[in-house]
Formats: sequence, C-alpha cells, structure tokens
Amino acid sequence: MIAIWFSCGAASAWAAKLTIERYGYTHDIRLINNPVAEEDPDNQRFARDVGDWLGVKVEQATNPKYPDNSAVSVWDHEKYMSGVAGAPCTKLLKKHARQAWELEHKPDFHVLGFTAEEKDRHDRFVLTERPNVIPALIDARASKADCFAEIRKAGIELPAIYKRGYPNANCIGCSKATSPTYWNHVREKDPEVFVDRAEQSRRLGCRLVRVRGERKFLDELKTTDQGLPLKNMDFECGIFCEERAA
Ligand code: SF4
Repeated sequence: MIAIWFSCGAASAWAAKLTIERYGYTHDIRLINNPVAEEDPDNQRFARDVGDWLGVKVEQATNPKYPDNSAVSVWDHEKYMSGVAGAPCTKLLKKHARQAWELEHKPDFHVLGFTAEEKDRHDRFVLTERPNVIPALIDARASKADCFAEIRKAGIELPAIYKRGYPNANCIGCSKATSPTYWNHVREKDPEVFVDRAEQSRRLGCRLVRVRGERKFLDELKTTDQGLPLKNMDFECGIFCEERAA
C-alpha cells in the first residue's frame, strides 16, 4: 500500500497523479490530508477537485484530542506558538494524526511532495526518517514550477492562497514564519488574522517575528520592516517535519 501525503499544495497533487499512473494497477493507493482550521478554506475545495480528478477519495487524518483541528486552540492549550523544538501545531495536528493513521493502516511506502530542486532534502529525509519513500517528483524531474503548470493544465483551479501571493498552502499566519516580509504580507492580505496572531502571541509571550536579528512581537513590527522575498521562504509545514522532535 502506498500512502500519499497530500498537503493541498500543487506539488503533492502532481506527485499523487504520477504515483497513481505508475502504481495504480499494482498497489492500494491512499491519499491522505491533515486539515488545519487556520488554512484557507479553499484548500479543501482544492482537495475535493484533486480527489475527483484522480478518482481517489481524499482521507483526513486528524488528532481526536483536537476535534476542531485548530492551531489557535493548540497554541492556547500548549501556551506557546513556536520554538526551538518546532511548532506545537505541526506536532499535535499533523505528526500525531499521521502516526495514528500509520499505526492503523501500516503503509508499505510513502509519497511526499519533494520536488526535483528538493533532492537534498529528500535524501536527508530518507536517511533520517523513512527509508521507504517513493521520490515520485524527483524521478520525473518535476520542479515546483512544473507542478503548478501541470495542475493548471489539468484544469484545476489552484488553492486561492497562492493567488494572494503566499509561498505555500500552509495556514494563514503560520507560527513558524519569522520573516517581516511574510508577516507584513499577512497584515496586508488577511488583516484580521494578523490582529488575532498579534493578540495571541503577545498574550502567550511569543516573539514571532525576527527584525534585523532581533525577535519582536508582531505588534512591534513596522510596515516598512522587510526580510527575504516571499518566494525564497522555506517554512513549509511538512507532514513529517516534526518527526525528530518526538
Ligand atoms: S502551517 Fe504553520 S501554523 Fe499551520 S500547523 Fe503548520 S506550523 Fe502550524
């Protein structure tokens, strides 16, 4: 059985298509998503469209301890939003949900959305986390841009969050992000989310943003503060990214 971990991003959608084409006749293929309430609601529309396109039901792996699947609830409960050991929302809403699914279903192989330019990351992952990963996109030499193009070619509307200029289909106002550019983007595109994150992070004592090397509260961030361009950011909330923080 092959478990395809579908993040509602273009890369894992195209990885699913390639995997089904190649192994659909010989393997039981499962497509699994971890929904998080703070993601753009259009992510789930995209998941339905991808499931219809591939003819596979998209399953949801969730943590029963957090029935609302909410990162905001996790942050309040854990009293922190992100730290040296990672973000508690990834651990509780993704890692624990995935482990429960793996325990129950025992997949033989995994497919993740590592693109051709992420080969080093994939190789590290295979060495340190799971040896049984099928590098569907790397074998096909598919870059991130190729994945976007293929999904568009299939006539599937990409998740709305990309059109609003975000670098990935993560939660809006992701607690892993430290870039002033990212947080000013959230302030511009989703001002109510920015206000909520600023309030909660101040209340919990989390300085989420780093400005010229110094950690600051979001309510101290100036609209003129800048960091790396959004397209260079790499804080994707991968489904396995907290594995070693067990
Ligand atoms: S995308 Fe960010 S906020 Fe959402 S679960 Fe992952 S680390 Fe947490």
